[in-house]
Amino acid sequence: MNNRITEAELGECYKALDRIRALTEGLGLRYYIETYGCQMNEHDSELLAGMLIQAGYAKAETKADADLILFNTCCVREHAEKRTFGNVGFIKELKQQNPRLLLGVCGCMMQQKEVAKRLYARFPFVDLVFGTHELKNFPSMLEELLMERDRIFRVSESDGEVIEGLPIERTPGFSTFVNIMYGCNNFCTYCIVPYVRGRERSRKPEDIISEVRSVVQSGYCEVTLLGQNVNSYNYGGVTFPQLLRLVHDAVPELPRIRFMTSHPKDLSDELIAAMAELGRVCKHIHLPVQSGSDRILKAMNRRYTSSDYLKLVEKLRSSVRNVEITTDIIVGFPGETEEDFEATCELVRRVGYSNAYTFAYSPREGTIAAAMEDQIPEAVKKERLNKLNAILLETIPRNNEKYIGFTGDILVEGVDHRGEPLLFGKLSNFKMVYVQGDEGLIGKTVRVKVDGFRFNSLFGHIVKEEEE
Ligand code: SF4
Repeated sequence: MNNRITEAELGECYKALDRIRALTEGLGLRYYIETYGCQMNEHDSELLAGMLIQAGYAKAETKADADLILFNTCCVREHAEKRTFGNVGFIKELKQQNPRLLLGVCGCMMQQKEVAKRLYARFPFVDLVFGTHELKNFPSMLEELLMERDRIFRVSESDGEVIEGLPIERTPGFSTFVNIMYGCNNFCTYCIVPYVRGRERSRKPEDIISEVRSVVQSGYCEVTLLGQNVNSYNYGGVTFPQLLRLVHDAVPELPRIRFMTSHPKDLSDELIAAMAELGRVCKHIHLPVQSGSDRILKAMNRRYTSSDYLKLVEKLRSSVRNVEITTDIIVGFPGETEEDFEATCELVRRVGYSNAYTFAYSPREGTIAAAMEDQIPEAVKKERLNKLNAILLETIPRNNEKYIGFTGDILVEGVDHRGEPLLFGKLSNFKMVYVQGDEGLIGKTVRVKVDGFRFNSLFGHIVKEEEE
């Protein structure tokens, strides 16, 4: 079974946080966390914030007001290292102005030991560097820093653990994320995640359910069950579709359940059936295709073909009413020919995505694809990306035509003030709808009718009772 943090280790975390609180009482210390990258990093930052609040820190509004700054870094985006090093460099001046300011750098980029060492060596004013597997040691490292002020570098190469029971400070709102698993076993050849987040570890269903219950009690109305590949969730034989049913049935007061991300190779008929049957499971799936060429999919180690993918799309559309599909696509993967790229364009036209996140391939140090021959020139990647985006500019609005006259429920998330103020919120299938309405409706579910669309957003009005 999974490597889990022990009760004794958790007890030590809380004891260290109590000692920090006693040590710093009356000093009015404040923290500032800057987070880069995906929801996994957001989640880690929420845990770091939770621990700091437990230790007596308050949140600072700006870096200049903080006594502790943490950069939670990401190594997935392009030029991430250059940007992170630049941002860290800027803190030198703040450290000169405030000698008690501590600076820590953590997250995926710091789990790449060579990069972490480079950063630690280049910026002697960085007090703390730690990798993604060190969260449980954060209280003791902070305590050590406060007592001794010696620099700390801690990056371990374990496969990671499942950490339960740490305090968490969630970003306020109506929608939140609950991790169901950590890590990834897939080793897509372009991706650094398995190297920095370790092997797949699934959480116990009971722990997930109790966290979902507690976020609903705190007022959240939408929970996204999160994992790098939720479809391979497995705890003691409980699969992801089973978990979805368990959460759905155990927390009936939760209006909306989403999940992310689904690897096509593991998308089962059971999951499609669960999406179709469970009323409060949202009818949206993010299903990254990455390429429409079988040759490139193989080189990416995706382990499905374009025809497997299209069959899944067909099954989803025929089983789940009003389902919408979004995706990720990489163009310019090493060795991608014009023919391969055309296959991607063709697949995009056939699927008719609700939305797509498109990227020009950029190598990640340490991955298999980074060392492949036939890297595609930047100009070609850019041209292909533009071409693909132009296709999406046509196909996404076409997919919206069916919504004219459609009636459905949105969860109102806020007001868009860019022009005439409009409330915005998503349908269950993730389509964003803008309507006129009162700000008091934020956080409520309202029935809307769609009158028009613009690119990937819909526009409509709130349905009055007599219109029903
Ligand atoms: S499934 Fe592939 S792309 Fe997704 S996190 Fe795992 S290795 Fe990366």
